[in-house]
Amino acid sequence: MHVLLVGAGLSGAVIGRRLAEAGIDVTIVEARDHVAGNCHTERCTETGVMMHVYGPHIFHTDDEEVWNYVNRFAQFLPFKNRVKTTSKGQVFSLPINLHTINQFYRKTMRPDEAREFIEQQADTSITDPQTFEEQALRFVGPDLYEAFFKGYTIKQWGVQPSELPASILQRLPVRFNYEDNYFFHKFQGMPQDGYTAMVERILDHDGITVHLSTPFSRSQAGNYDHVFYSGPLDGWFDYELGHLGYRTLDFERFTYDGDYQGCAVMNYGEESVPYTRITEHKHFSPWESHDKSVLYREYARACAPDDIPYYPIRQVKEKALLADYVSHAQQESHVTFVGRLGTYRYLDMDVTIREALDTAATFLAQGPDTPLFSNPPL
Ligand code: UDP
Repeated sequence: MHVLLVGAGLSGAVIGRRLAEAGIDVTIVEARDHVAGNCHTERCTETGVMMHVYGPHIFHTDDEEVWNYVNRFAQFLPFKNRVKTTSKGQVFSLPINLHTINQFYRKTMRPDEAREFIEQQADTSITDPQTFEEQALRFVGPDLYEAFFKGYTIKQWGVQPSELPASILQRLPVRFNYEDNYFFHKFQGMPQDGYTAMVERILDHDGITVHLSTPFSRSQAGNYDHVFYSGPLDGWFDYELGHLGYRTLDFERFTYDGDYQGCAVMNYGEESVPYTRITEHKHFSPWESHDKSVLYREYARACAPDDIPYYPIRQVKEKALLADYVSHAQQESHVTFVGRLGTYRYLDMDVTIREALDTAATFLAQGPDTPLFSNPPL
C-alpha cells in the first residue's frame, strides 16, 4: 500500500509516522522548503536565538498520550507562558487574574472579595452569552473588556467583538488568585531544539520519503491508495466555490542589543497601537543565554490568496461556504482532510496531534472507509 500525505506539518508527520510504523509506504509532499508547518523554528543567524518563524507556539496539554508522544521525539524543557499586556499606559498580567484586577482597580482584594466585585461589574442579565462581547461583559464587565479585549480583538479579527463567537474568548480563563500561567494544563513545555527538529525526528523513518518545495497537484492523487490532505480545504477544489476566509499575520522583525521587554509575549490591548503583540523570541528558550535579541511586532489582517492562512474566521458567511465545500467533498473518495487547514478549525498543537493519532488508527483499522474528515468541520 502506498499513501500520500500532503503537508509536513504536525498532522502529516504524525499520521505518516504511524502508518510507516505499520509497514505502509508513505510519501509526503511539502510546498515549503522546511517541515513543521507553522510551528517551524529556525536559529537566527544574527542573534543565535531560536526563532518561532510563524509566531509563538507553546506546547500545553492535558492529554498524557500526546505528551508522551512528543517527548519520544524531543526533549521538552519547562516553560510557563506568562503573558503581559500594555493598556492605558500600564503593564498588566494576563490572563486576567487577581493581580490584574487589584492593579487595574487599585485595590487589595482577596479572592472572594474580587469575585464579588467582578460580579458587580458584570452584566448578569446576559444568561447565555453567544458572542465574544456578551461573554466578556458577562464575565469581566465593561472596564476590563475595554482595556484588554475590545481593541485587541478588533485588531486580531478585523470585526467587532459582537460579531464573533463566545468560544474565542472562552479560550482564556479569569482567575481569582495570583496564578499567571496563561495555560492551565497538566503538561506544558518547549522542545529544547525547537519544533522543526522534533518534526524531523518524527519523519525520520525508513518508510517515509519527504519531498520539500513540492507543491501538490490533485492529478498526483490517483497514483496512491489514499491521500491525507492537510492543505486548505478550498485549495483541494482549486477554490472553485470561492475562498474560505482567514486572518493572516505580518511580522515586523527587529533586533535589540540586550533584553527589550523582559518577557516573551507583550500584548497591546488598545486599538490605537497598530500591532496586537510583540514577541521576544529568546524568552521562549529561557535555558539559553543570548546578549542580542530578536523580536516580532505582530499585525493581523485579512488573508489574500497569496498570503499564509493562520486563523480560520468561521463567521456566518464562511460557515455557509464551508458547508458547501463539505458537501462537495462527499463526492471524493480515497482522501481524508486533516488538521487546521484541512478541516478549517482553530486548533492547538496538542489537539492536532491527538486527531492525527486517531485518524491514523482509524485508517489502520478501516482502510478506505476512513471518514472524509479527521474531525467534522461544522
Ligand atoms: N484576546 C484579547 N486580548 C488579549 C489576548 C487575547 O482580546 O490580550 C482575545 C483575542 O480575540 C484572541 C482570543 O482572545 O483571538 C484568544 O486568545 P489566545 O491568546 O488564545 O490567541 P492565540 O494565541 O491563539 O492567538
